[in-house]
Amino acid sequence: MKFRRLENASLDNKTALVRVDFNVPVTEGGGIADDTRLRAAVPTIQALQEAGAKIVLLSHFGRPKGRIDPSLSLGFLTDPLAALLGSPVTFCEDLTGQAARDAVKALNSGDVLLMENTRFLPGETANDPKLSAQVATLGDVFIQDAFSAAHRAHMSSAGLADYLPAYAGLAMERELDHLSQALDHPKPPVMAVVGGAKVSTKIDLLQNLVSKLDILVIGGGMANTFLAAKGVNVGASLCEHDLADTARQIMAAASNASCEIMLPVDVVVAKEFKAYAASRVCAPQDVASDEMILDAGPETVNAIADAMDRAKTLIWNGPLGAFELEPFDTATVEAAQYAAKRTRDGKLISVAGGGDTVSALNHAGVADDFTFISTAGGAFLEWMEGKALPGVTAISN
Ligand code: AMP
Repeated sequence: MKFRRLENASLDNKTALVRVDFNVPVTEGGGIADDTRLRAAVPTIQALQEAGAKIVLLSHFGRPKGRIDPSLSLGFLTDPLAALLGSPVTFCEDLTGQAARDAVKALNSGDVLLMENTRFLPGETANDPKLSAQVATLGDVFIQDAFSAAHRAHMSSAGLADYLPAYAGLAMERELDHLSQALDHPKPPVMAVVGGAKVSTKIDLLQNLVSKLDILVIGGGMANTFLAAKGVNVGASLCEHDLADTARQIMAAASNASCEIMLPVDVVVAKEFKAYAASRVCAPQDVASDEMILDAGPETVNAIADAMDRAKTLIWNGPLGAFELEPFDTATVEAAQYAAKRTRDGKLISVAGGGDTVSALNHAGVADDFTFISTAGGAFLEWMEGKALPGVTAISN
């Protein structure tokens, strides 16, 4: 994939405005619940320090909607970030005024300055060119290192590139290289596992994928809609009956594109949506009117494993069942563990991402065995939909 890489940027003594994603999950007490996003920014910051740049970090945090909201200040991150970097981090509460200019002026080569939440400014999400032009005066280059914010056409994720030379940071580079390896230039056969609750949130994604894949496994609640569209009575299962036509169109498009769609051949059903509810395995045709499909059955998992034996590239988004409720996590865990094994054996390139997928793979204990797990939610899905992401366009040739 063609985009401007950090190694080609001239950085010595230059001020780099770096878009990071510090939208960290917080505890009830206001502490950091998980510092993955801070750690993800460290390689780029350290590379910039080594290259002699002055580093100005920009991030959103929560949804303050263009107003200053002290509860959404980024100030609490300076100490944990400094600890991870092993060097001091200063903070500036202002992004557009004299205080911002003074704070940037005070930087020496290698210094790190964290700016206040970009979403305190109304022009951020509006991608106001005046704001971009103003913020751009603080720096010499723009480094986009937040793939997870790249689906937003905002000042700090895209707009700055209209005023400054723009490059991918190292985390962004890793994301783009792996994602393009999985979908733009994959080793065939290519398969995807798409699960999760609803078809309605993934129509564009399914339509794009069927034109690119050899095998598409549809699982989770979504599969119920496809089964129903084929005339199967799915009982009390989660099902979007109004999307039957859409499901049929996707199946027809898949057939035209020689993409094999795999739906569950057996299912785990229960009468209650709760952990350890009494359950049984049956054929999709045998679901009773008061039963819900909560997981794929063992034959389906075997069929998915066979498909993984045939495939060389796997893209995964969404669980195969209601994985938060044991034992209805079984199909997700077993299929994920098989993908992890094929990957460890060097037989499969496996790329996963999007919200619940990361927690499902962590739950299966295989997150480290996949070739790559994207940190992004919405951006990963929009990439699977085949859409141009403004934050990627910003750094593309
Ligand atoms: P998504 O956010 O679309 O990826 O959906 C993830 C959610 O889908 C998880 O919370 C799962 O519990 C849920 N889910 C998956 N399969 C089923 C199912 N068969 N019935 C109900 N919910 C499901």
